[in-house]
Amino acid sequence: MTGWEMLCCYIHADNHKTDLIKKLAAENFNDYKVYPDSIHYAEGSFFLIAREEKRKILVVCNDSNVYKEFKGDETTINTLKAKSCPLNYENCLIIRRIFPFTNPSNHKGHDVTIGLGDRLGLASAGHLRLLKDKPVFPVLAQQSIRELNLTGRNYNDVLLAASWAVFQEGYEKGFGADGDHLKSAAEVKIALDSGYTMITLDCSEHIDNRLSSMTSDEIDRKYAQIPKHKQEYIESKYLNKEFRLKDGIKIEFTAENLKKIALIYLDAIDFTIDIFKGTIKTCGRNIDFEMSIDETLTATSPESHFFVASELLSAGVEVTSLAPRFCGEFQKGIDYRGDIANFEKEFDLHFKIAEHFGYKISVHSGSDKFSVFSIIAEKTNGKYHLKTAGTNWLEAVRVIAKEKPSLYRRMHRFALLSLQEAQKYYHITADPSKVPDIDMLDDSKLPALMDLDDARQILHITYGLILLEKNPDGKMTFKDEIYAVLNESEEEYYHVLFKHIGKHLNYLKA
Ligand code: ZN
Repeated sequence: MTGWEMLCCYIHADNHKTDLIKKLAAENFNDYKVYPDSIHYAEGSFFLIAREEKRKILVVCNDSNVYKEFKGDETTINTLKAKSCPLNYENCLIIRRIFPFTNPSNHKGHDVTIGLGDRLGLASAGHLRLLKDKPVFPVLAQQSIRELNLTGRNYNDVLLAASWAVFQEGYEKGFGADGDHLKSAAEVKIALDSGYTMITLDCSEHIDNRLSSMTSDEIDRKYAQIPKHKQEYIESKYLNKEFRLKDGIKIEFTAENLKKIALIYLDAIDFTIDIFKGTIKTCGRNIDFEMSIDETLTATSPESHFFVASELLSAGVEVTSLAPRFCGEFQKGIDYRGDIANFEKEFDLHFKIAEHFGYKISVHSGSDKFSVFSIIAEKTNGKYHLKTAGTNWLEAVRVIAKEKPSLYRRMHRFALLSLQEAQKYYHITADPSKVPDIDMLDDSKLPALMDLDDARQILHITYGLILLEKNPDGKMTFKDEIYAVLNESEEEYYHVLFKHIGKHLNYLKA
């Protein structure tokens, strides 16, 4: 008998209470390999998730109408029928119907919401173990098209991993799914059709920041090309007007600044209104809509933020959050770089604008920004959206460095060789010459490389190249081994995530 079969011997068809079985599973995880919080009873059958040697399965126990719906291998334990089912899409659809908490939902009304993109599809259960007692709403599925391409996954896969993790951990408090940094109606539609509950629209391709360095003559000439009625509309609404935010803060527009802002953002505003009205509003669900203008060259000025928000809301766009580009640098996987006092001042203004219009500020590339977390938490009175993604990949790399140093060494060398390629789509300033030579390091020193900024960033941005690299014979160079090590070290991976994301929440006082 396998572990889960032994545990199923304690199941009785006429006793629907799961407490005893949960207790046994929790106390004897190493024997039964059944996740205690995955044990549920519904519609005449018992459900649980079990670990087998190389994979996890869903076990449905006791014949019933729903039992018959699941696809899997049947067996009989004592007198009870049991089915071991793969964690695939078809079986997940039935689980989502029986257990509504495994479906994503929007996060309206929740103060602290955190995006926890899970590039490998293995991290969510670790996140949930931390969050189950915290007042934080997790957006577990959160991927950009760039990340999907770099990991060879699609939106269904990503949400599937999140739903199974939620079921495994019995997490019933709700989670979100964010189609992150989407750039067109077609991309938005793919995420919505896959059931995503949050859409982050990336407007960077519609924002021309070169305009910010134009002379006033050039600005005048360009501005003159805007249709007359539009010029009149903008000027009558903003020019020489004073807008008052909380605490007596004023937003004002001079002629030159207003012209410049209009030239930089009008396209992005029109694009956003089109997508919201044409694709999001009409989808039949209540979506968390975020506008992101963070992936631009220059910081978003408070006046620009105010103008964009004011135009979106006047046009009826329902904004749940907006991500400005803050001053200083929010590079992937490392702490904030820049003048913290200046950040505090500008962040406060951005927050007050968001508060004025009734949405949340969203902070992207928010992992590891320990020196500004308290500012984010305090200035917003604990109401913000924060996105993290790659930091849980780095924790996975840390586990690999500890558990299989030879694999880590190969990944590390490959990452150094691929750095230039990866820098085409991720902006970082890591210096490979500052990374210690791993040939001079003992195996025991390898995990600590994930505490060094330069090594972190290099491993951070090369994840896609590492995951998709193939040998000449077509076999995956790293991917299968990476998954094997992390599956083997599942509890350890959850533990390092608990610690690392826990450190984020401590700094955020969440
Ligand atoms: Zn972003």
